[in-house]
Amino acid sequence: MSDSAVSTSRALFERASVVTPGGVNSPVRAFNAVGGTPRFIRSAQGAWLTDADGHDYVDLICSWGPMLLGHAHPEVTAAVQAAVGRGTSYGTPTEPEVLLAEEIVGRTPVEQVRFVSSGTEATMSAIRLARGFTGRDVVVKFAGCYHGHVDSLLASAGSGLATFAVPGTPGVPASSTALTLVLPYNDRAAVEQVFAEHGDRIACLITEAAAGNMGVVPPDPGFNGFLAETCRTHGALFVTDEVMTGFRASSRGYWGIDGAQEGWVPDLMTFGKVMGGGFPAAAFGGRAEVMGHLSPQGPVYQAGTLSGNPIATTAGLTTLRLATDEVYDHIGGVAETLKTAAAEALTRAGVPHVVQSAGTMFSVFFTDPAHGPVRNFEDASRTDSTAYAAYFHAMLDAGVYLPPSAYEAWFVSAAHDDRAVQTVLDALPAASQAAA
Ligand code: PLP
Repeated sequence: MSDSAVSTSRALFERASVVTPGGVNSPVRAFNAVGGTPRFIRSAQGAWLTDADGHDYVDLICSWGPMLLGHAHPEVTAAVQAAVGRGTSYGTPTEPEVLLAEEIVGRTPVEQVRFVSSGTEATMSAIRLARGFTGRDVVVKFAGCYHGHVDSLLASAGSGLATFAVPGTPGVPASSTALTLVLPYNDRAAVEQVFAEHGDRIACLITEAAAGNMGVVPPDPGFNGFLAETCRTHGALFVTDEVMTGFRASSRGYWGIDGAQEGWVPDLMTFGKVMGGGFPAAAFGGRAEVMGHLSPQGPVYQAGTLSGNPIATTAGLTTLRLATDEVYDHIGGVAETLKTAAAEALTRAGVPHVVQSAGTMFSVFFTDPAHGPVRNFEDASRTDSTAYAAYFHAMLDAGVYLPPSAYEAWFVSAAHDDRAVQTVLDALPAASQAAA
């Protein structure tokens, strides 16, 4: 698309870049990885985004996961409008918090939840609770799993497997990651080694229930169960981060298609995105015995002015109540259609690729299938970002808004109907050629 066609977005981006670092309020929204001007979105309806210059796009970002029902769903909008009319935040307990907590407890193995306002807060609080509960300090995580911008989790692997991590960004002191161990994902031997060496110091192991932040990389069959068992053996807590997968990969999150079948239960879970229905709401939860260590019942302090606020909890509750099995069937069907068509078009254009999914989430890796499936961050790093950038822009020009990074899941919603799907299907051949 020519610069003049997006002149309003361009002008807004220039103004934004003066008053906001990089012109965006979260780095994933920028186009640094693909080049060009991020579109400033003026409105959204169903499966469609409309930018400030009046162009429509099929939305395959869905606000990075939350918009399970699509944009401006009439029932969610009406419930939120009614809630706003009753006042926006009281700083007291409210009924929607109870109802949303009951809904989450009903769909997942957690017995209690505490609400917060972002996924970052959820994982940060879960780790504090795990440390407070076990009286231990060390945290184990996997490279390529993102748990929000928690200091101790913004860590890269140290020089050896069982050595402690180094900060992954300036601004995080070495002391903040000195108690974090970073391991390759899907690597049982590495897990066994660190637990053998540090087991009695490990408070918790945290993992995305299925990795979605290096593109979609599902756990090997039995891997999560193995992690749960290893943690149990060593008296550490097993924390599954379902901020992305929760109420998205299936109605009961990724646990619903993994732990529920295999019979393991995490000690703590984190949630966000879908459970806020497009508003800032997140949660962490787990066994009552563990959650009981939280203030005011127990000694581990955790709090939040807007935690469980009535607008976000109303949006989340309405969304989850509308998220029936039919909704997940629809989303799963759309995901299947899109990923099959994307793979076929890339094959026809001769572009090496690997398509992977976890429940209804999927992503397209621009990696060589000769290397096999993408099982960890090292595999994902083989992505051809130049080819993806060409693909991304061809799709954008054809009216499809993909994530502006090759390392992301593609999200669809209940509102992705035949017209939206057809728009994507029509765009795929030329975009695949552009990537060749
Ligand atoms: N955990 C996971 C798995 C995520 O995908 C994200 C965000 O993408 C977070 C935590 C952080 O959530 P938030 O951006 O709401 O802080």
